[in-house]
Amino acid sequence: MRDLVIIGAGPAGMTAAVYAARKKANCLILTNNIGGMAAWSAGIENYMGYSLIPGAELMAKFEDQVEEFGIPVEYKSVEKITKENSIFNLSLQGGEVIQAKSVIVASGRSPRRLNVPNETNFIGRGVTYCATCDAPLFAKMDVAVVGGGNSALGAAEQLIKIANKVYIVSIAGWSADPVLQERILKAKNIEVYKGFEVTAIEGHDFVERIRIKSKKTEEESEFPVKGIFVEIGSEPNTNMVKGLVQLDEKQEIMVDCSNHTSVEGLFAAGDVTNVPEKQIIIAAGEGAKAALAAYDYLIRLPE
Ligand SMILES: Cc1cc2nc3c(=O)[nH]c(=O)nc-3n(C[C@H](O)[C@H](O)[C@H](O)COP(=O)(O)OP(=O)(O)OC[C@H]3O[C@@H](n4cnc5c(N)ncnc54)[C@H](O)[C@@H]3O)c2cc1C
Repeated sequence: MRDLVIIGAGPAGMTAAVYAARKKANCLILTNNIGGMAAWSAGIENYMGYSLIPGAELMAKFEDQVEEFGIPVEYKSVEKITKENSIFNLSLQGGEVIQAKSVIVASGRSPRRLNVPNETNFIGRGVTYCATCDAPLFAKMDVAVVGGGNSALGAAEQLIKIANKVYIVSIAGWSADPVLQERILKAKNIEVYKGFEVTAIEGHDFVERIRIKSKKTEEESEFPVKGIFVEIGSEPNTNMVKGLVQLDEKQEIMVDCSNHTSVEGLFAAGDVTNVPEKQIIIAAGEGAKAALAAYDYLIRLPE
C-alpha cells in the first residue's frame, strides 16, 4: 500500500510529489496527463524565475524534476475515493482499486460545456475548449468564440491574428479586463453578439454552422463557421470525492490553510479547491503545503 497517492500532474500535483519525495514518502501520481491546464497557456509571464515561458515548456521542467526524484506516474483516471478503517480506496476507470494511507487531490478543473445539441459529437471536429492548443488549426477560416470573460477574449485575441473572421458571442456583456476589450474592439475582422445564447451546433463530419438566439428579442441568427471556441469558464474535477468530503457551493473542495479537507488523511491543492485565484504559482505553493501536511499526518499514524 502507498503512503500517499497524488491525483493529478498539474503544477499542484507535481509540486506535491517533489515535496513528498524529499520526505521519503512512498508516493504515486495517478493522472490523466502531465501538465494539466497549465500546459495550455501560450505564454506565462507570472511564474517567478521566468519572464516568459510557454506553459508546455514550464510543465516539461516540472516533469523533469518529478522524474529526477524517481516518483512513479501512472496514467489512470480516478473515478471514486472511499475511506474504510483509515485506508483510502481509489477506484480507477476500468475497475482497478488502489489503496493508500493518505491522498492529495490535485485534479484541477475542466472547461464548462455549452450543453447544446451536437456539442460533444463535434469535439475535435471543430468544437474546442483550448484556443492556445487549437487556434492555429483554423488559419484563414471563420470561427466563433463563445464567452465574454478574460479567457474568451484572450482566445479571440489569438484568433483575430490567424482566422479570417471571428464572431464573439456572449450571453451577457463582456467581463474581461478593459485593456483586453479595447485591443479586441480595434480588430477589423470581428463581429460581436452580446446578449446572445448558442442554441445549436450543426454540420456533417465537421462543424459547419453555429446558431444563436437573442436573449432580449428571441431573434435567431446562424453563421457558417469551421471552429467554435467555447470559453465559458470551468468546473472543478470533484466527482471522485462527491459524498466523501465537504464541497462549497461551487463544488470546490473546502480546505483549511494547511490543505486539510473535512476527511482526515485526505488533502487537496490547486484549482480544485476553494482557495481563491486559480494560478500556477498558487497551485504549486498549495501543492507543497498539502504534501507537508500529508507527511505530518503520515508520521503520526500508529504503526
Ligand atoms: C488557457 C489558459 C491559460 C492560463 N494561463 C495562465 C498563466 O499565464 N499564468 C498562471 O499562473 N495561470 C494560468 N492559467 C491557470 C493555470 O493553468 C491553473 O491555475 C493551473 O494549471 C492549476 O493547476 P492544478 O495543478 O491545480 O490543476 P491542473 O493544471 O488543471 O492539473 C490537474 C491535473 O489533474 C488531472 N486529473 C483531473 N481529473 C483526474 C482524474 N479523475 N484522475 C486522474 N487525474 C485527473 C489532470 O489530468 C491534470 O494533470 C491558465 C489556464 C488556462 C486554461
